[in-house]
Amino acid sequence: MKIILDIDDLSPSIPNMDLILKLKEHYPKLKITAFTIPADTRTFNDSRDKEDFSKVYDQWAAILKENPWIEIAPHGFFHNAGEMLCDEEKAKQIILAGENLFKHYKIPFVKIFKAPKWQMSPAAYTVLRDMGYTVAIDRNNPTVPISNLKTYKFSWSFEEPFPKNEKIVKGHGHMVGMENAIDLTFTNLLNMPDDAEFLTVSEYMEEYEHLFSAQQDGQQIIPNTPAEQIFRGEGTQRLG
Ligand SMILES: [Zn+2]
Repeated sequence: MKIILDIDDLSPSIPNMDLILKLKEHYPKLKITAFTIPADTRTFNDSRDKEDFSKVYDQWAAILKENPWIEIAPHGFFHNAGEMLCDEEKAKQIILAGENLFKHYKIPFVKIFKAPKWQMSPAAYTVLRDMGYTVAIDRNNPTVPISNLKTYKFSWSFEEPFPKNEKIVKGHGHMVGMENAIDLTFTNLLNMPDDAEFLTVSEYMEEYEHLFSAQQDGQQIIPNTPAEQIFRGEGTQRLG
C-alpha cells in the first residue's frame, strides 16, 4: 500500500509537532507533506520584536532541516480567512512573500499550494497555475474554475476508519483544532499498515506524471486516466 499524508497548519507556534515526530518513531519510513503557514500571526504575536521572530524562525528551520521527510508546502501567507479570495496582483504578492520567507530561512519547499479553508478566487488559481504550482483541492468540493491546472485531492480524512483495502491512500488532517487533528486522531493513525510505502505529495505527483508517459513502454494506459483508477487496476493491468 502506498500512503500519502498531508497535514495543514504547520508553523513555529502551532502545537503537536512532537506528535509528528512520535508518529515517525512508530513508522520509520514515514513521510508527510505539511501545508505550512509562512507567517503565522501567532508567531508574530509571540515574538516581542523582529529579532525575536527571526530567532524563533531560525530554531524552527533547524528542526525542519533535521527532518527532511517533512515536506514543506505553502499554505496561504498569514492564514487570514479569505486571503486568497483576491485579484491576480495580490495573489502573486502573497505567493512570492511566502516563497521569499522560506528562502530567507533556507527552508526547502515544494510548489504545492493549499489556501486557508480551500478558499481561492479564480484569479488566485490562475496565478498558481502560471507559477507552476499544483493546487491541493477539497475532496468534498473538487471543482476548479480554470483548466490545465495540476491538482491534488485527498481520499481519507484522519478521523475516518482507515481504508485498509485501498492500494493508495491519500490522508489529510490538521495540526490542531479540527476533528481530523493529529492529537485527536493519533490512535487511528497507528492503524496504518507497518509495511506501507510512504510518499510525499510531490513524490506522488511525480509518480502520477510518470504513469502518463508509461505509454511509451507499450502499456495500455488511457490518456487522462486518473492515477487512482490506474492504481485500482481500472486503466491497465500492468501497474499497481
Ligand atoms: Zn489552514
